[in-house]
Amino acid sequence: MNLARFPRLRFGHLPTPLELLKNLTRELGGPEIWIKRDDCTGMSTGGNKTRKLEFLMAQAQAEGADIVLTQGATQSNHARQTAAFAARMGVDCHILLEDRTGIKDSNYQHNGNVFLDVLHGASLEHHPGGTDMEAVMAASAEGFRAQGRYPYTIPGGGSNPTGALGYVNAALELVTQANDQNLRIDEVIHATGSTGTQAGLVAGLAGISSGVPVLGISVRADRKNQEENVFQLMVATAELAGCSTAVNREDVVANADYVGEGYGIPTPGTIEAIRMLAQLEGILLDPVYSGKGMAGLIDLIRKGVYRRGQNVVFVHTGGSAGLFGYTNRFQTVAGDAAA
Ligand SMILES: *Cc1c(COP(=O)(O)O)cnc(C)c1O
Repeated sequence: MNLARFPRLRFGHLPTPLELLKNLTRELGGPEIWIKRDDCTGMSTGGNKTRKLEFLMAQAQAEGADIVLTQGATQSNHARQTAAFAARMGVDCHILLEDRTGIKDSNYQHNGNVFLDVLHGASLEHHPGGTDMEAVMAASAEGFRAQGRYPYTIPGGGSNPTGALGYVNAALELVTQANDQNLRIDEVIHATGSTGTQAGLVAGLAGISSGVPVLGISVRADRKNQEENVFQLMVATAELAGCSTAVNREDVVANADYVGEGYGIPTPGTIEAIRMLAQLEGILLDPVYSGKGMAGLIDLIRKGVYRRGQNVVFVHTGGSAGLFGYTNRFQTVAGDAAA
């Protein structure tokens, strides 16, 4: 694989650290739990979209874009990182937000990622849940074009083959770090949503014959749909990256047991996982993705699916800015211990 032939803006702080979570490992008494700190990618509180945007925004620049459009849920981490990239590149950013959760809380509507979108200078428009957001975004881009602008549209989550190259690259980075530390990885686990992260990771890990399996913890779709969507993008990504003969359908595995009520609604397990990482490790997860992913990992360890003597790597995909949109889920008052 030769990723250097793709245009890329090196805005991320890479490589991100690969660390052992000593206290969480001791608390659960199971496998060694390692964490890949993609919450520390450096752009506007970090997160997994930074790796994708390095390739996507380079493409936007190569095409002469003067405005970038993207879409997501109200508390989209992808929208916030796109706004930060656009600011640094000196281009405009227009974000279409979908009310996917129906949460009316003022922090959810205006704080967290929404606050940061505006702080980075992006313009926002809001749409009700269930809107065909890709269609509305295409129409919006058409409108900008009619005004003489040069829009570049990025799909939700930055999940197309170009964006997923960021996680092909992350797979190479992770395996190099594991080799350097003599770490045998038994499984990589992370939260999966718009699928680019898992598609890129699986393609990259297969492309170098690493033999490292990946489990995606779904935050929205059921298992069958999530696996099918990841698979489709993985095939297209592998083709772009030049490793299509290496990828197999059975390498795509998702678990949808931790979605709960739906996208963007934290479960009791999500809240517990966020508290555990905050209080045992000093690490901030998020209520929509990494908290659900970690809740899945904790539960699978408690059930004995992963055991002492094994090594699991949790990819921390970021999202802590979203915590400030969900403060009322934590029943804490400043100065009090957690309820
Ligand atoms: C977008 C996101 C994910 C999911 O990644 P996909 O590539 O969309 O599957 C996970 N965690 C966080 C914090 C995210 O913002």
